[in-house]
Amino acid sequence: MKTYYTFILITIFSLSLHAQFDLPDLPYPTDAFTEVIDQQTMEIHYGKHHQGYTNKLNKAIKKEEVNTKKTIEEILMNISSYSSNLRNNAGGYYNHGLFWNSLSPEKSEMSLELKKAIQKEFGSTKQLIEKMNQQTAAQFGSGWGWLIVTKDGKLKIVTTANQDNPLMDVVPEEDQGTPILGIDVWEHAYYLTYQNQRGKYLSNIWSIINWESVSHNYARALQD
Ligand code: MN
Repeated sequence: MKTYYTFILITIFSLSLHAQFDLPDLPYPTDAFTEVIDQQTMEIHYGKHHQGYTNKLNKAIKKEEVNTKKTIEEILMNISSYSSNLRNNAGGYYNHGLFWNSLSPEKSEMSLELKKAIQKEFGSTKQLIEKMNQQTAAQFGSGWGWLIVTKDGKLKIVTTANQDNPLMDVVPEEDQGTPILGIDVWEHAYYLTYQNQRGKYLSNIWSIINWESVSHNYARALQD
């Protein structure tokens, strides 16, 4: 009997040692920007895809006994030590959280610091957008376009395949850094409205970018 209780206690204790991640709240309703992304796409993208990555991530974490108190960022920066299943779902979980926060139905201004950095690196915001659209449109198959802060504090545009992201240690070293803006170019992000026209989706999305949030991410990335 005593052994039995000890077993139960150990089980409860070890279960509590696994990191668990919650689906973050969507910061606006699913019909917040129907002129750019239709409501059904938003509902499926958030409620099915992001929820799915969250559930599968939590399952994988339990299975692979990922010891908390690891944050999602810490897991991603060390992703080469886990399975490809955990890699895909940890990426999917983190990437979509950043994506929702990169968008806003309200117009917002970027900080002066970010504006200056964009001018220095790309010439102007317009040139940043052109370059990022070009590179992201050319991503073969499913993936993401990112604006990152590199280890030496510079802005850079990179793309990654599937649910990889620039925090991951499996990404080429020159493409690693802290993402401050992420754009999803999986077909599930745009197909209902845009079908095969990824370029049209990309040019429209800039009207709903949350520059205030990107500026906040930029300031935080520089502190790291
Ligand atoms: Mn997606």
